Amino acid sequence: RAARQLELETGLRQALDQQEFVLHYQPLVDVKTGRIIGMEALLRWQHPKFGLIPPLEFIPLAEDTGLIVSIGEWVLKTACAQIKVWHDTGFPALQVAVNLSSKQLRDKNLINVVKQVLKEAGIEARYLDLELTESVLMHDMDLAVTILKELKAVGVSFSLDDFGTGYSSLSYLKHFPIDYLKIDRSFIQDITTDLFGAGIVRAIIVMAHTLNIKVVAEGVESYEQLAFLRTEGCDLTQGYYCSRPLTVEIFTELLQDWDRLRAGKCSIKD
Ligand code: C2E
Ligand code: MG
Ligand code: MG
Repeated sequence: RAARQLELETGLRQALDQQEFVLHYQPLVDVKTGRIIGMEALLRWQHPKFGLIPPLEFIPLAEDTGLIVSIGEWVLKTACAQIKVWHDTGFPALQVAVNLSSKQLRDKNLINVVKQVLKEAGIEARYLDLELTESVLMHDMDLAVTILKELKAVGVSFSLDDFGTGYSSLSYLKHFPIDYLKIDRSFIQDITTDLFGAGIVRAIIVMAHTLNIKVVAEGVESYEQLAFLRTEGCDLTQGYYCSRPLTVEIFTELLQDWDRLRAGKCSIKD
């Protein structure tokens, strides 16, 4: 494992130049209508020796080495260019979500990078959503509030990712201009079997709606979970039940066939 780690570390420095990163996209589905409203861009590393490496294995490394700033910029650029292609091929309303790491948020260039990327891609800011976790916002709250407000003025939206796994501090919801709250998969997992867990999810949905924040359920894997979320008024769902993260090619095919094949499966009628 140590040898692999070392190889990853050296490889990571060249991975951008060697064009070894790819983005997969997972649909975000409207719980009421079953339609795709957008997608989350998820980074993978196509390693010449180890094959496709999931983000959790190399993002911490990219953060420690500071490489995450340039990798993150590549992710933003690639995702925005791709959403433009999808807009132009008949899906003009889709929104793309991109995960931001703590180092990126604190990078002085971030606001200019975001503006530049949107301009180059030729898309309006409202089609870009930035996903942040509580731990990303936590370090220096005042600074984070300032940065988010500046970005908000540009027109992007924000999601609070993995909600429930950190401090779930209500002060985040109060201070940050959050548009979407993503309930972590660990809470969704047992909503159909654990009354207490179900109660927490129900309460999060009510609280978010009171604050005018939309709710996304992460990691929805079954019809029963989706049915529960529909009853509780959850807005959006993301998870293997509707679709796993997909390559650009397969996502494009799926968009074309979605209404015929999946919209019914991913929506629950009253
Ligand atoms: P995340 O942002 O919470 O992304 C959701 C993760 O849950 C993804 O894992 C996705 O594949 C997985 N997932 C979605 N639906 C289901 C489901 O129904 N069941 C299960 N078991 N898993 C599901 P992935 O792609 O491995 O990404 C892991 C994390 O890596 C992400 O969590 C995010 O924190 C980070 N990440 C991914 N891409 C980027 C990126 O471009 N930049 C940064 N900074 N972080 C990224
Ligand atoms: Mg995310
Ligand atoms: Mg998440």
